[in-house]
Amino acid sequence: MNNPETSPTSNFIRQIIDEDLRDGRNGGRVATRFPPEPNGYLHLGHAKSICLNFGIAQDYHGTCNLRFDDTNPEKENVEYIESIQQDVQWLGYRWSELFFASDYFDRLYGFAEDLIRAGKAYVCDLDAEQMREYRGTLTEAGRDSPYRERSVDENLDLFRRMRAGEFEDGARVLRARIDMASPNINLRDPTLYRIRRGAVHHQTGEAWPIYPMYDYTHTLSDALEGITHSLCTLEFEDHRPLYNWFLDNLDVPAHPRQYEFGRLNLEYTVLSKRKLTELVAEGHVHGWDDPRMPTIAGIRRRGYPPEAIRDFCDRIGVTKSDGMVEMALLENSVREALDASAPRAMAVLNPLRVVIEDYPEDRVESMVASNHPKDDSMGTRGIPFTREVYIDRADFMEVAPNAKYKRLTLGGEVRLRNAYVIRCDRVVRDDAGAIVELRCSHDPATLGANPEGRKVKGVIHWVSARLGVPAEVRLYDRLFQVPNPGAAKDRDWREDLNPESLVTLQAVVEPMLAEAPAGSRFQFEREGYFCIDTRDSAPGHLVCNRTITLRDTWAKLSAQSW
Ligand code: ATP
Ligand code: MG
Repeated sequence: MNNPETSPTSNFIRQIIDEDLRDGRNGGRVATRFPPEPNGYLHLGHAKSICLNFGIAQDYHGTCNLRFDDTNPEKENVEYIESIQQDVQWLGYRWSELFFASDYFDRLYGFAEDLIRAGKAYVCDLDAEQMREYRGTLTEAGRDSPYRERSVDENLDLFRRMRAGEFEDGARVLRARIDMASPNINLRDPTLYRIRRGAVHHQTGEAWPIYPMYDYTHTLSDALEGITHSLCTLEFEDHRPLYNWFLDNLDVPAHPRQYEFGRLNLEYTVLSKRKLTELVAEGHVHGWDDPRMPTIAGIRRRGYPPEAIRDFCDRIGVTKSDGMVEMALLENSVREALDASAPRAMAVLNPLRVVIEDYPEDRVESMVASNHPKDDSMGTRGIPFTREVYIDRADFMEVAPNAKYKRLTLGGEVRLRNAYVIRCDRVVRDDAGAIVELRCSHDPATLGANPEGRKVKGVIHWVSARLGVPAEVRLYDRLFQVPNPGAAKDRDWREDLNPESLVTLQAVVEPMLAEAPAGSRFQFEREGYFCIDTRDSAPGHLVCNRTITLRDTWAKLSAQSW
């Protein structure tokens, strides 16, 4: 049983399962599944469903299957199938069994004939427009199709010929015979099978000229796999009576129960495969794994750790309403995970050359730096210090703007982190008058010691000019500049894209980073969390992605704008 001490926060679904187990339902079994359609990459909304389904299986010692809901061959492909498996595993989950709904096509076909024989399904020749017209509206009952009273024999014959590929796409469908006057439109003789003769299915090839519809397939796949708790999002609440109708009217091996939970909606992004597909197709981003995308592939490449996503999903919980979740909540989970796990490094994003004139030209000192200020077990490393170093342009002003300014000024002192205190004696300008170099001197007595007779408060980061490594640094920010893209009247959601979601800099980083494996994550001290890009980084061309800033800069911005 679920142990409240160690398990994630309980929720209404876990309470239902607890009750079912207490009542001895399903022989004490808990079986869930995650059923994506392989028509796109998974996004953070799917992560919520994955954490819920796999998390329950884990905590209740049950099973969770990965099942591809593959009944729309035109929209699906193997690239999506592979990415989905990779994403589920990256999130830290292992499925009990891997299935395709198409594995059940033969059995689904058999169930359809059973329905026909029982007078509960019929072949209908209305075209799509007529179907719509006959279906009625929310306030108006539908009308019976003129084909509703076909005999069992005629229906069987026509359905078999549909299966044999005798009819054109759209010529006929198989429909359940339920109730055209039902207040629930899903029960007004829903379509069970449609004809798609030209389609080549990624699993079944050209074996099937007919394909089963979503509700039918999904229900029966759940039943065939012995799923006990079929969890889906709220928009399927109205489909539940149909789900139960299939189970009640067919001789199925199990009676799963469907429960609906609220979708994840996240501020400053969009979580819909359709919109994400458009972003990729229209070139607003560089592919499904663009680090700005809310896809699992995108956030992985961005440097989000999987434990941060699981933590986030636990914190948002599972409720019976669709809510909008603040981006800050996700970002806090990411910062917390990275603060604990990311080794520290020094990187200068906007380099300004500093020449320490009283430091010998040929000397290299290895400065000892801690890899993590709060975790000694992560050890230390050496950082080469030389006569010329880079500091960040933001860390120098000729004149301090106010008394609180602790960085370097002309004539002032600052500590180079893990190294000496330096003083800026002169600035070198280019023809246009811009400062291009600082001439400094150092106090040799300040290595690991306070300077004598004066206080130096500022500490800034640096990288050796000679031994540092150039790096392309990609500063990623939120993909949209408003919390709810497209919500404003007469505005297309694409108009809300953040034009500054990617800023590229030529930085210099400490040499150790050139050896770091692709995907490894660091805190660049005073700058944020970064990772080595897994796609574009190569020997001789280091590419670092900013995963997230150290603090929530957006909170400050919106506070200022008031
Ligand atoms: P989209 O609306 O983005 O196309 P979908 O629901 O069509 O998503 P599926 O592949 O059918 O995508 O989804 C697989 C599972 O993930 C379903 O059980 C679905 O309910 C769940 N899911 C999809 N989006 C979300 C979301 N935003 N929040 C929670 N669960 C989601
Ligand atoms: Mg779907």
